[in-house]
Amino acid sequence: MKSLWDDAEASQYTDDLGLRVYTSQLLGRDASLVLHGGGNTSVKITEPNIFGEDHDLLYVKGSGWDLETIDRPGFAPVSLDHLIRLAELPSLSDPDMVNELRSNMTNASAPTPSVEAILHATLPFKFVDHTHADAIVTITNNPEGKKRIQEIYGDRVVIIDYIMPGFDLARLCAEQFAKEAHAGTEGMVLLNHGIFSFADTAKESYERMIKLVGEAEDYLKNQNAWDVSSNPPKIVEKTSVALSQLRREISQVIGRPVILMSDSSDKAITFAQHEKINTLASQGPATPDHVIRTKQLPMIGDNIEAYTQAYKKYFTENSALAKDEKTMLDPAPRVIIDSGHGIIGVGKSAKDAKIVLDIFDHTIDVILRADQLSEYQALSSKDIFDMEYWVLEQAKLKKSGSSPEFLGEVALVTGAGSGIGKACVDALLAQGAAVVALDINSDVETLYASENFLGLACDITDEAQFQECLDIAVRVFGGLDMLVLNAGMFPGGCEVAEMSTSLWRDVMAVNLDANLNILKAAHPILTLSPNQGRVAVIGSKNVTAPGPGAAAYSASKAALTQLCRITAMEWGRDGIRVNIVHPDAVFDTGIWTEEVLEARAKHYGMTIEAYKTKNILGAEIKSSDVADMVVAMCGKLFSKTTAAQVPLDGGNDRVL
Ligand SMILES: [Zn+2]
Repeated sequence: MKSLWDDAEASQYTDDLGLRVYTSQLLGRDASLVLHGGGNTSVKITEPNIFGEDHDLLYVKGSGWDLETIDRPGFAPVSLDHLIRLAELPSLSDPDMVNELRSNMTNASAPTPSVEAILHATLPFKFVDHTHADAIVTITNNPEGKKRIQEIYGDRVVIIDYIMPGFDLARLCAEQFAKEAHAGTEGMVLLNHGIFSFADTAKESYERMIKLVGEAEDYLKNQNAWDVSSNPPKIVEKTSVALSQLRREISQVIGRPVILMSDSSDKAITFAQHEKINTLASQGPATPDHVIRTKQLPMIGDNIEAYTQAYKKYFTENSALAKDEKTMLDPAPRVIIDSGHGIIGVGKSAKDAKIVLDIFDHTIDVILRADQLSEYQALSSKDIFDMEYWVLEQAKLKKSGSSPEFLGEVALVTGAGSGIGKACVDALLAQGAAVVALDINSDVETLYASENFLGLACDITDEAQFQECLDIAVRVFGGLDMLVLNAGMFPGGCEVAEMSTSLWRDVMAVNLDANLNILKAAHPILTLSPNQGRVAVIGSKNVTAPGPGAAAYSASKAALTQLCRITAMEWGRDGIRVNIVHPDAVFDTGIWTEEVLEARAKHYGMTIEAYKTKNILGAEIKSSDVADMVVAMCGKLFSKTTAAQVPLDGGNDRVL
């Protein structure tokens, strides 16, 4: 393990909080130290208060911040004396502790301080760093973990037996540290949890962490427990239909649609095919706070009924031992291990599913190395339950607010790179959907950098290419709930007498034939949508009010409309709704350049403004208006409507 400290980078930070930000980010850059919100850091600073008097503060990581991206506002300033007095109390409930932390900050808008704030306060060093380093949890999730830690560090670290994070842990650490620490103490190892380092400068505290964790890594290497052997895996990936079926069943147990993200890397499949998989994967998480994301155990195979029964039993047994009443979380798995397919992460959003996969990817390393060392032995069910059902976590459940309408759902949009298609992508993302954006132009692949977005270059007239994109989409998000048929072409004015057969066929191929193939391919997946599938079709005003010079376009959109009306009739039995929006005069798209607009306006003897708004309401129709209609058609408003054709044209006297 190498220090990432860089003098030039560090020189941009001239004050203690700045340096705290810098080395926190350095810790965050190494996923084998901390993952997604794990770990925390602090610095003790003296500042004048509003009366000009010196006030000692602990700036500690606020909850909701990741070390990798943390900045100054991510640190909560808490009165240091108050924290140290709290540590001397014989007991303090965790809700009371959080109240004390929040009400003793000097910045009312700072985030809630980490629950490990009191622990940080009691360590008599300016800088304190805490991680859940893979190497440390590998060695301590082991029957002889404590002995091995002593072997590695001698008396250079204080060793704390496992106890749940919160006030009791802070108090225990404060007492034990005061008794055992000496001039040569460099850190503190919390068995089955992680490690602390500290020093009077940011650099030394950070580099001690790197050194201590590096020693643990070297120990694993010397014990021949670093490189884990693997055989080339036999891959039997689940089909899109099987994945969608699994997603539907898990969504039903959870009570809302969720994202299922697959990791079919060699590493994931090799682990899934491990001869001892049933033992290795049935121990528990590498560090207790992972349980919030992963649950105690993964589901091995696909017997959801057996998994949920076992979870209910775990809840009943452990909640009976708890001091206060617990509300059971949904009993569905968050990690699924499939021997031919790999690992599947389950999350309420694509971001959450990705976090689950990232955590489990590190858990695989921890498990295999601990096993090679001697044996992987995680904390007891009771300890894990206490963390999963921690009163502070249960409180979060009660105040979790409303979520966007399409959270956990998946939409696919064709022609998504620009114009109406891109507006649909934006609107669906804004409603929480994971969006698969297809476009003939490969620029779509880099349109957005977000876990909720998957851009794929696709020529939709090529059946095999579309099927491949659909399969990728299902591996990334788990299924499909909403299909937006938008891609289309609009050739320039061409009268029937001059129409070439090839132009006619080109237009039909994109605007009509491709959509038939897309509907056919998507049907088995849409049928398995947990909330019932939806298709939104971008038609055209030309279906009911065609214009001269647009025969191929108007005929193709009219045929598409008829195709979709019949699809609505046939798919009603599968609960799938198909609705059509007929926009007119949407000028903020790629086709309508400034020159074309000017030419058309001139043709009618109008200004551009008047031309854009030549409808009953005098309204300008924008791509985003069409996208809002698509969102409505996919949402609750249209939940009892199918085969509707809705004009979006500002009112047209040829249509009404
Ligand atoms: Zn921790």
